[in-house]
Amino acid sequence: MARTLGPKCRLCRRDGERLYLKGQRCHTAKCAVAKRAYPPGMHGFRRGRPSEYGVRLREKQKAKRIYGVLERQFRKYFAEADRLKGNTGANLLILLERRLDNVVYQLGFADSRAQARQFVAHGHVTVNGKKIDASSHLVKVGDVVAPKTRKKSESLARERLDALQGRSAPEWLTLEAKELKGTVNRLPAREDVSIPINEAYIVEFSSR
Ligand code: SF4
Repeated sequence: MARTLGPKCRLCRRDGERLYLKGQRCHTAKCAVAKRAYPPGMHGFRRGRPSEYGVRLREKQKAKRIYGVLERQFRKYFAEADRLKGNTGANLLILLERRLDNVVYQLGFADSRAQARQFVAHGHVTVNGKKIDASSHLVKVGDVVAPKTRKKSESLARERLDALQGRSAPEWLTLEAKELKGTVNRLPAREDVSIPINEAYIVEFSSR
């Protein structure tokens, strides 16, 4: 499982906004962006206005970081989004949103996408009753996502779900909290993607 190592808060500070990479901590005053709202590094606070290229690059980096995908995988998503009918930028975000780790996070079985990725990779998640340990698995309409029927998997999911009470699943997913399962009732649309991303910049950057 490829992933970005290193301090996560630095990534948010580099992009100048909260990317919510650390779960509950991101909603508190301990968030590094709240405490130090300038780029990391010795000369971070001295940097001037970014170039046109820089703005587009940052937007792409932001999407990669939020969804936890590396460059090569991101390019594959972009190629697929470009091949599909419709708006490439919207297609790209929709593909990323359909990733299994994102669905586990959106359902509240994990506190962050990184935690969801680990939950999936450690074999705690099933799709339609079958164990899936690839966080890049794309969900389809009608898929039922649930923790494995094992005491440990269920108690981990229950614990997180209880801790996140008050956060509701997006409209394209139906969460049955009591049964500890979620159903994909339709594919996400661009409007369902709530993260602050300008996908047009990503398309401009990636189509160069
Ligand atoms: Fe980003 Fe969360 Fe760290 Fe804040 S606490 S800088 S949102 S990872």
